[in-house]
Amino acid sequence: MDKKRIYLSSPTMHGEEQKYVQEAFDTNWVAPLGPNVNAFEKEIAAYTGCGHAAALSAGTAAIHLALKLIGAGAGDVVFVSDLTFSATCNPIVYENATPVFIDAEPDTWNMSPEALKRAFEKYPKPKAVICVHLYGTPARLDEIMAICEEHQVPMIEDAAESLGSTYKGRHTGTFGKYGIYSFNGNKIITTSGGGMLVSADEEATRRATFLATQARDPARHYQHSQIGYNYRMSNVTAGIGRGQLLHLEEHKTKKKEIYRQYKEAFADIPQISMNPLNPDGDANCWLSGMLIAEGCKITPDMIMDALDAENIESRPVWKPMHMQPVFADCDFVPHHEDGGSVGEDIFLRGLCLPSDIKNTQEDMDLIIRTVRGFF
Ligand SMILES: *Cc1c(COP(=O)(O)O)cnc(C)c1O
Repeated sequence: MDKKRIYLSSPTMHGEEQKYVQEAFDTNWVAPLGPNVNAFEKEIAAYTGCGHAAALSAGTAAIHLALKLIGAGAGDVVFVSDLTFSATCNPIVYENATPVFIDAEPDTWNMSPEALKRAFEKYPKPKAVICVHLYGTPARLDEIMAICEEHQVPMIEDAAESLGSTYKGRHTGTFGKYGIYSFNGNKIITTSGGGMLVSADEEATRRATFLATQARDPARHYQHSQIGYNYRMSNVTAGIGRGQLLHLEEHKTKKKEIYRQYKEAFADIPQISMNPLNPDGDANCWLSGMLIAEGCKITPDMIMDALDAENIESRPVWKPMHMQPVFADCDFVPHHEDGGSVGEDIFLRGLCLPSDIKNTQEDMDLIIRTVRGFF
């Protein structure tokens, strides 16, 4: 018999999603927009305390519109977290602006405030800073915000992976001028695909909605004074999101339990450490990651191969953007003054462990046994 597949992070549906989707069908709100979209925006705003929200087709679209609203374009530099998924920085290039990658720091695996400070010495007037909360762990927001405020540069928080995480009691995504969430299939809650742009500035989210619906001027005839996008979330999709949101806290509790189990299971192995959590935050633990000690002869590939042989899905840590062929010409500011890259080091020694909330205790035991077998 084939071994059961154990997933990294797959969608978990509950049933309420169908109720909202059914409502959309019953009222024939299957086309874009509609009551689920408006309600989902209000519910996310109420849950996170973000103020205002615009539901979009993807988290990537939300980052793109945030950059448009800030006015990033040709000749502008945008500082962005280096250790992340390419969707964080691709929209910078859509707008012909220039990404400058800011290294991670070891305490949270997120944007290094030290590197950010040095980046401002080299490029005093960037148009924006895009800061990621990797794997759900909040970045060192106090320090990063202070640097951005000192230089009066707006921050965009890429909270795609950290919906439900808080920093000093406040939700990630609500600190910057703009925040973005993703509801892609592997995220902590999903709409199959979708995203949200959030801001305290209501006028800004209204403008985002305008740009996301082809920038149609308020006239009876089809009139356009600027270039728009087809980035709005559909009413069916938003229905799935409303049902999922009811279970976000439950997903978070389960994800945190998965992290706790791994941490406890590897506590006696000095060569393994877990991805760090920010002591000033409460992480949603979207993905649990482990780091192999320097000098250890076990590699992430060896562990991933062994897990794969048991039909268990695992992943490398995101490959830093400054190491990507497509960004070879872009500048990178390392955490260490001597040029050493923390992100590269994490990439070479780290891996993401299965963090699917449907995994059973037997699944967890098998994963842990397989990893422990190397040490
Ligand atoms: C998933 C993700 C995105 C993109 O979100 P989509 O909804 O897939 O477009 C952006 N940034 C990070 C860090 C992500 O993990």
